[in-house]
Amino acid sequence: MGLLDNKIAMIFGLANERSIAWGITKAFYQQGATIGISYAGELLEKRVKPLAEQIGCTFVEACDVASDEQIADITHKAQQHFGGVDILVHAIAFANRDELNGPYYQTSRSGFHLAMDISVYSFTALARAFQPILRPGGALLTLTYYGAEKVAPHYNVMGVAKAALEASVRYLAFDFGPQNVRVNAISAGPIRTLAAAGVSGFKSMYQKYAEIAPLHSNITIEDVGNAAVFLCSDLAAKTTGEVLFVDAGYNILGIIEEVD
Ligand code: NAD
Repeated sequence: MGLLDNKIAMIFGLANERSIAWGITKAFYQQGATIGISYAGELLEKRVKPLAEQIGCTFVEACDVASDEQIADITHKAQQHFGGVDILVHAIAFANRDELNGPYYQTSRSGFHLAMDISVYSFTALARAFQPILRPGGALLTLTYYGAEKVAPHYNVMGVAKAALEASVRYLAFDFGPQNVRVNAISAGPIRTLAAAGVSGFKSMYQKYAEIAPLHSNITIEDVGNAAVFLCSDLAAKTTGEVLFVDAGYNILGIIEEVD
């Protein structure tokens, strides 16, 4: 018996085998979920399709979440393919590389809009599109980072975007509560993915992380996948509007001790 038996899960944000979306997909599959996968566009198709095959997934569709038409289109296709959907995972973020370097005040207006559109609004846009086909007992999940709460050098506009995303989680949780659909976020510690590679200084921060974090460990996509199973399963039936840290305890630290 799996924790997600009989659940249909749509996963947005799979790019490659390092993606957090892949950790979540694998964990959901192991727990019995039927999976639909969405990726950003044609360039990723050759990486995503073989991964989908590994889990016997037959619903694999491109969707650029900057486009309301493409979101409407994939929602329609999901409805035709699955009938209803129980779980929607949003593992998507984007900012121009030059916004993730130097001081935050240098953020351009267009760079700010782009980061907010792709990294924040798209979660609300997907929630809105899928709302009519989400089944009671269902769950929406997004991915955030501690840079929403505290300053993480170079994370810049993405930190501001994640703060807005976390606020969206609370507003969506309020809206979807009467439908008995829960909305939560996982705040993951640093993981070496395509998206993370765009943040200046990520590599040295990643290297120090395991020395500093209380559990003295880095985070894997499998760790995030397991926490996602919990949040999207009936085990978390009364948890909504929350941000769950999967960060080896890093966020509880007030003072970072020098490691000898
Ligand atoms: P990733 O690069 O594997 O995933 C990011 C995904 O966003 C990619 O699949 C990319 O194609 C997709 N995307 C970007 N623009 C899009 C668009 N217009 N339409 C559709 N999809 C689009 O990296 P990841 O680290 O797995 O990122 C997943 C989520 O996890 C992001 O929200 C990220 O901010 C968050 N997160 C990552 C870390 C980390 O250290 N890697 C830590 C905390 C939170």
